Amino acid sequence: MTLQVGVIGTGMIGQDHIRRLTQVLSGVEIVAVSDIDRDRAKASAPGTAEVFDTPEALVATDRVQAVVICSWGPAHEAQLLACIAAGKPVFCEKPMVTSEAAALKVMEAEVAFGRRLVQVGFMRRFDADYRRLKAVIDGGSLGAPLLYHSVHRNASVPEGLYTSEMPLNDTLVHDADISRWLLGDEVTGVEVRVPRRSTRGKDLRDPVFVLLHMASGALVDVEISVNIAYGYDIRGEVSCEAGIASLPNRPATVVSDRHGIRQAIPEDWRERFIEAYDQEFREWIAAAGSGTATGPSTWDGYAATLVADAALRAAASGGLERIAMREKPALYRAAAAEAA
Ligand code: NAP
Repeated sequence: MTLQVGVIGTGMIGQDHIRRLTQVLSGVEIVAVSDIDRDRAKASAPGTAEVFDTPEALVATDRVQAVVICSWGPAHEAQLLACIAAGKPVFCEKPMVTSEAAALKVMEAEVAFGRRLVQVGFMRRFDADYRRLKAVIDGGSLGAPLLYHSVHRNASVPEGLYTSEMPLNDTLVHDADISRWLLGDEVTGVEVRVPRRSTRGKDLRDPVFVLLHMASGALVDVEISVNIAYGYDIRGEVSCEAGIASLPNRPATVVSDRHGIRQAIPEDWRERFIEAYDQEFREWIAAAGSGTATGPSTWDGYAATLVADAALRAAASGGLERIAMREKPALYRAAAAEAA
């Protein structure tokens, strides 16, 4: 059976996902697109896909069985609620929403519906290197994880569009989610330190150093540098009781010439995580075809939102900002047990 999909938001990542869904993966057809900029939606519409004026009209049409949301974060809440009200499985790019109140609304709507419909775009969980790293930690041979060092470096970010809040409420969500998933833990508090600023970021607060306090007592440190020039570099190393486990250097051709011996570094997230995005959608198509969702859930989107909020408070206060989570609804406890 072919899953008929509507895509909301046809900007940078929307277009990349449209390419993936039409040229790389099977079992799916894009039948509808919508963007606040109608001309952009029209230019991105594959084949005979219909262009809708509003996300609500796209969600409502009978032709659309499942939805992919790639609009900007503040628009996600209303679009997710529309999908849940229509009972349609939905893939939503991160951040799931941009406030705790919005995360609770989405979670309450999905819990009331009674079945998982939402998958959040935390693609690192589908990356083969991260999956192997998690298998080692879960295998237990190294003992309990005590520290996790996460590094998130971007060559550059768009000047004027990327603000000083964004390392904490847009970029950090990936590191927060992967830390919770790798360590099987929850974040209970956040500290933020701002070192000497990079002059490359102009007035931007860059880099930032974040400390996540986990419920088990483990600590996670995160370096976020978003103007580091040399490439997109994602690293991770877990220190356990009896050894360490790290992400590998990405395999790349070794070039030797008069400048020395070197390997290429990915330019951006599209290159580094290309297979992870493919796998994320492979698994989404299978789940959505059965009327549900898999992988990162609304609960995970809620947890990441709380970390982002606490990180912004911590940057302002200079202290440790605590996180208080709601009790986990049974819907998400069942999903976690299946994934284990
Ligand atoms: P983008 O290039 O600005 O694209 C967003 C698109 O959505 C734009 O065309 C925008 O139109 C449109 N839009 C805004 N509000 C809308 C609405 N209410 N209804 C329909 N369309 C709307 O941004 P992007 O880089 O593709 O990012 C999109 C989302 O993906 C963001 O949430 C971002 O954080 C996430 N993302 C995730 C990853 C990842 O690694 N998982 C990587 C990149 C981005 P206008 O330009 O006219 O506002």
